[in-house]
Amino acid sequence: MSAPVILWFRNDLRLTDSAALTAAAATGSPVICAFVLDDAACGAWKAGGASRWWLHHSLTALDAALRKAGNRLICRTGRAVNVIAELADEAGARAVYLSRRYEPWAVAEETALSDLLSARAIDVRRFGGALLVEPEVVRTGQGTPFKVFTPFYRAVLKELAVASPRPAPETIPAPKTLPRSKSIEDLGLRPLTPDWAAGLRETWLPGEAGAVAALDRFIAEAMAGYPEGRDRPAAVGTSRLSPHLHFGEIGPRQILARLHVGEGQAGAEAFVRELVWRDFCAHLLFHWPEIPDRPFRPEYADFPWRSDPVALRAWQRGQTGYPMVDAGMRELWRTGWMHNRVRMITASFLVKHLLVPWQDGEAWFWDTLVDADLASNAANWQWVAGSGADAAPYFRIFNPVTQGEKFDPRGDYVRRWIPEIAALPDKYIHRPWTAPDDALRHAGIDLGTTYPRPIVDHAASRARALLAFETFRRGGEGAR
Ligand code: FAD
Repeated sequence: MSAPVILWFRNDLRLTDSAALTAAAATGSPVICAFVLDDAACGAWKAGGASRWWLHHSLTALDAALRKAGNRLICRTGRAVNVIAELADEAGARAVYLSRRYEPWAVAEETALSDLLSARAIDVRRFGGALLVEPEVVRTGQGTPFKVFTPFYRAVLKELAVASPRPAPETIPAPKTLPRSKSIEDLGLRPLTPDWAAGLRETWLPGEAGAVAALDRFIAEAMAGYPEGRDRPAAVGTSRLSPHLHFGEIGPRQILARLHVGEGQAGAEAFVRELVWRDFCAHLLFHWPEIPDRPFRPEYADFPWRSDPVALRAWQRGQTGYPMVDAGMRELWRTGWMHNRVRMITASFLVKHLLVPWQDGEAWFWDTLVDADLASNAANWQWVAGSGADAAPYFRIFNPVTQGEKFDPRGDYVRRWIPEIAALPDKYIHRPWTAPDDALRHAGIDLGTTYPRPIVDHAASRARALLAFETFRRGGEGAR
């Protein structure tokens, strides 16, 4: 038998339309399918609890698919570059194939592995496919990376080529002797004591089959109405593909091939635009790798954020007294996901109403989201905070009450996540503190006991934020 090829699985946990896997299988050599859990490579950005839960199930689904194809997943732990190099030595491998990632630490891993293995004449080949367009491909007229979304979007559209997805290989030949492997269970990714993942289990089906099912459902039920439906958190108006995309259980080009973008397909076009936002976030991270930690606009490093652990905790637990904020934070805690409109409302509330640093919100989302993604999380938090590339203007401060009344007019979303106020009439559902005593009594609410009063006054905190931002922009001391 010829020397094996190692396929190093990273965030490409699928068999269909994987350029790396197709190329590895096409060599005719046996393929060692490897995954390495390395919590040290990513510094402060070790995968959070919800992501680890997802990863456990995604790896399990991948291993099952590989077994059907006559192979299996080899799982190890440790510093990934060293582990892959050791595996290559052990197995006498002639090449390592992998799909690219764009986090700074992952880019560094790719270079380190190439350097290490080229000295041993082992070929390292990197493949794209996680994005619609690789981050080096599109450039401004001046040859620089993009900082503004709309021209980036136009440039990406020019590069888009819809191609039939590569089918999953029917068989993936394994070497006669498989290298030793830990079990997926031994990776310790699932929460056991306590097991807090019941809401995640009820909500998601991680793995390739779950990704295809989510796409089928979106196309059948939501795509036509997506331009408006995507702003209605109570409805199934979006695809919920984000965790599947993050873990590479489906690739964006596979999605594109199913959409039939064209005349009269406003839903598909609006959806592709969101996929391009995902590419834009990766483009920003690739070219400005500091954005998860530091403001894209460096002057924002001096913004006078407040330290307010009590308010931060109320926000995290969905106890701010603003139903739209609390519903979002509880949806996140229970299911590991939050609707995009509500992510914007909750994020704006933290950084504008509470003046708490965006990094604190980013860290909470990182731990609790099943789709936690270094690029999308950082870029979107900075967008809301006003410190990002092409960010929301500082004076855009979402009013959680009017946002709720506009996008959840009957209060269905709020009632689902905050049962203790569900019996309030529609006109008070987004502002319970304005309800007369008898309406509160009738709904079984004792404000301040069964549900909090607002932790800040909207008008006063809006004015405080505007003053802080305006003063800061003029170069003075912000108001505290
Ligand atoms: P759909 O509306 O069906 O969109 C399809 C796909 O497009 C999504 O799956 C996603 O991959 C991409 N997409 C949509 N909106 C955005 C966006 N604004 N930015 C980047 N990509 C987008 N998304 C993440 O995947 N991971 C994160 O960690 C993350 N953190 C966020 C933090 C904040 C503060 C905000 C405001 C947004 C964040 N988003 C993040 C973006 C967005 O909220 C989610 O991608 C979206 O809600 C996922 O739901 P969906 O799959 O149903 O989206």
